[in-house]
Amino acid sequence: MEDELLFSEESAGNFDVQGEQSPWIILIVDDDPDVHETTVFSLRDSLVLGKPLEFLHAYSGKEAIDVLQKNPGVALILLDAVMETEKAGLTAVQIIREELGMEDVRIILRTGQPGQVPELDTIAKYDINDYKTKNEMTRTKLLTAIIGALRSWQQIQRINSSRRGLEKIVQASNKFIVEQGLQHFAEGVITQMAGVFGVEPEGIVCASDGGKKVFSEDEYLVIAAAGKYKTLINRTIHKEDDENLFCIIRDTLKNKTNYIGKNSVSFFFTDSYNKNYATWIHTRRSLSEVDTDLLEIFCTNISLCANNIELVKRLKLQAWEDTVFKIPNMAALLERIRDCLEEDDVSNKDLIVLDIDGFYHINEMLGYDYGDIILRSLIARLRELFDESVFIARIASDAFAVLCCNDDFCSDKYPFITSMLINPPDGERELSVSVGVTRLNPLLGGASTQLRNAVIAMKRAKTEGIGQIARYSTQMGEEARKGIRLLQGLKEAFANRQLFLVFQPQVSLEDKRVFCCEALLRWKNDKGEFIPPDRFIPLAEQAGLIVPMGAWVLRESLAALKRIHGAGFPHMRMAVNVSAPQLRRNNNFLEVLDTALDESGIDPRLLELEITESVSAFGIEDVQKLFNGIRERGISIAIDDFGTGYSSLSSIDRWPVDRLKIDRTFVRNMDKKKDGARLIDLVIPLGNRLSMRVLAEGVETEDQLQRLQQLGCHEVQGYFFSEPLELEDFIDWMKSYANN
Ligand code: C2E
Ligand code: CA
Ligand code: CA
Repeated sequence: MEDELLFSEESAGNFDVQGEQSPWIILIVDDDPDVHETTVFSLRDSLVLGKPLEFLHAYSGKEAIDVLQKNPGVALILLDAVMETEKAGLTAVQIIREELGMEDVRIILRTGQPGQVPELDTIAKYDINDYKTKNEMTRTKLLTAIIGALRSWQQIQRINSSRRGLEKIVQASNKFIVEQGLQHFAEGVITQMAGVFGVEPEGIVCASDGGKKVFSEDEYLVIAAAGKYKTLINRTIHKEDDENLFCIIRDTLKNKTNYIGKNSVSFFFTDSYNKNYATWIHTRRSLSEVDTDLLEIFCTNISLCANNIELVKRLKLQAWEDTVFKIPNMAALLERIRDCLEEDDVSNKDLIVLDIDGFYHINEMLGYDYGDIILRSLIARLRELFDESVFIARIASDAFAVLCCNDDFCSDKYPFITSMLINPPDGERELSVSVGVTRLNPLLGGASTQLRNAVIAMKRAKTEGIGQIARYSTQMGEEARKGIRLLQGLKEAFANRQLFLVFQPQVSLEDKRVFCCEALLRWKNDKGEFIPPDRFIPLAEQAGLIVPMGAWVLRESLAALKRIHGAGFPHMRMAVNVSAPQLRRNNNFLEVLDTALDESGIDPRLLELEITESVSAFGIEDVQKLFNGIRERGISIAIDDFGTGYSSLSSIDRWPVDRLKIDRTFVRNMDKKKDGARLIDLVIPLGNRLSMRVLAEGVETEDQLQRLQQLGCHEVQGYFFSEPLELEDFIDWMKSYANN
């Protein structure tokens, strides 16, 4: 009951306004005690923006730092430039700004003589407000400087507190726990409002009528409060607690309007559940028109935010159901698996995960509405196949799970799901689906582990082609988890900048000149081992990490090219590998490209992108559009690993491309007069006819080089000339190659 006493004693209407005003805290730093005395004496009774001044004292730079660490509320420092050392003042400033991170505190530097004034850029760098020589410091001049500094400190504080308030509000609207969310949100409102008016978050209460249908006029719930009203949080307030405050809140809620009084204001807002809220603030002064306008805007925004919180709450209620297809979702599935695992007999329960092959392209090419139609028909078909006891859930956009509680009936159906006949309105069609199956086993882990195992099996099925089915095994699990660990390591390596590039020259066979180099990514782990890109790039592609990583590679290789130009090879070009996921529509590849080029200032005509045939999956029109966009910028395109891809040669002539890179496996097999030689025989004239350059990679021997030359190949790359080298080594190699 102590709280209540405290509360009723200090009624909101009877605030001692002057006593409430906390003073400005000013730290005087000077090695001369006289300066302390005269400063305090001349400023003693001054009020600045209505508030008194309070002084702290330090007699050296070191001591000043101590005082500041103990008193973070210091608004202004009057700092002597020269103390224990010539630079003691500036050193202190540097520590204050950089080490203590106190960016808000204002600083006025005072010097003995005009000659000791610091450089202008030092003043700017350390955000020093003002500097004055001590003998030009009359009382008026000093006070003017102090008022200016304190005013700007106050502004900084306001901006900061309103930013903190906004952050809280935003955080709260993302929070999933509604009760906590609302509380957080109300706190945000309070900080934000206090920030808007530049008052301390004191004497502010946010209360609600609890959404009661019959309007109650005798109690309100306090959701959040600040300052001395904090003890009221989560309690109801009554008229007896504080009549003035109570009446204002009641009127705000009842009339659904804002109340603007002489020294307090109260604002009304509501959420979509018709819960009403009032926020009361003790402003200690009447508000200007601007303040009032600001508040109106602010209240409208708050109502929107409050609605979001309610929205989240609704979403939570629907958390068990897929909102589009109205079938159980992932959360419901996990719950059901949990139940299954608890049953006595789990010996014959299969969990199946299915994922439509190439659904991405169905969506991209035929539209999302059609995609939904396909999914709907798939669900209908699954329902037909399995009897009612079987649980079917949607677990991702185009992935479903089927939980068969009695496998005796289920496993006969498996062949039908990898290639499923569905019946959308536009006629029957066959859908290819990848399927992963796992036998539930409580020894392997909880519900999410079981689901993950089924997903691992499904992913394995995908690597084996389309329409495949795979059963989970412990070995499969171990391999997958290894992959996950590797990916984790890769993420860390990327974040810690442990990846780097090496460069390999490309040589023209016509004049033996190095005209370009290819940037290749390297990863050396903590143990100093190299992990081959053939292992980590596919992982990065699957996980989407290739998108930021690829952007980094692009920037880094252009920076390297600049260095190579500077080292005396101004015509050198750079070839950069780009993976298909980077080129997906929503990854804005062209923007990434433009930014990287802008930043480096490199002529786009000196950049080449190496892209593999796998982009053909995007469909011919998209590829044409994308490639045209790249080439319009002057950038050239090489088809990488040519010959290994699954796209037909026929699409190549419709792709706007500059160069074909024959994969190194063909060069390797060339000696054996097998397919390798045949492909090369074919490609070179093809390239010539389509006016594309043909480059052979992986050239290791003199013999290979000569054969390629005889066949009319234009360019080569390979260990015969150089392995990929780190930048400086590469430049050295270039220099010695040029001299031979
Ligand atoms: P790639 O694009 O086909 O790169 C050529 C590969 O051939 C490189 O392997 C290179 O070191 C290797 N190589 C060059 N000359 C010879 C030779 O004479 N003999 C043999 N046996 N090999 C040679 P690396 O560096 O291991 O890269 C492997 C693959 O990883 C690359 O194949 C490329 O697909 C991918 N990759 C590397 N860096 C990047 C990158 O920054 N982004 C993307 N998306 N992929 C990259
Ligand atoms: Ca390449
Ligand atoms: Ca290759």
